[in-house]
Amino acid sequence: MKVSRIYIFYAILVLLLVSGHSAFSDDGASASMYGHKHHETAPESGLQSVGEYRTTGRIVRLLPAAANSFKRMQKEGLRHGIKIIPISGFRRFSYQSSLFERAVKRYGSRERAARWVAPPGYSEHHTGLAIDIGDGARPECNVEACFEETRTYRWLRNNAERFGYELSFPGKGSMVSFEPWHWRFTGDSKSREVMQTDGRR
Ligand SMILES: [Zn+2]
Repeated sequence: MKVSRIYIFYAILVLLLVSGHSAFSDDGASASMYGHKHHETAPESGLQSVGEYRTTGRIVRLLPAAANSFKRMQKEGLRHGIKIIPISGFRRFSYQSSLFERAVKRYGSRERAARWVAPPGYSEHHTGLAIDIGDGARPECNVEACFEETRTYRWLRNNAERFGYELSFPGKGSMVSFEPWHWRFTGDSKSREVMQTDGRR
């Protein structure tokens, strides 16, 4: 009698563990990781080029609404002597994965790496609505802290909103470090839904 009760106890325990495990793996991802939200990857057929980043030789791509707005913003900037350079737009899961693994090696842990690079599946770059921006006059500051001191950054701070762009990682109150180069498009209701702006503006 006693033995069978113990077996039942263990059977229930195992069942609970197994069902708990499958509940996690069913949706494949939690809502957020180290301060980065989970994001679906945009359909690549819908992406548009906003230019090529010379350093990597990569074509920078965004969804149409974000791409058109970026190009208008770039043109407007140029009229004021501001050279807005597209560095990185849409990213595949596999590319984000390689960036993140490199960051883990550099910073020593996944948590510390995530202060600078989103884990794969949790990057705004998957959505085709986020873009890293550089200053054509200060290429040494591309994706570096000194981008904050460039004319392009100051111009974006004052003007990007008119084109539907906002800073994703302003630093304060977030696990993710301040990234002055990383901007996201929230200029229409569809993009806002994708980004689920959470009041960290
Ligand atoms: Zn970025």
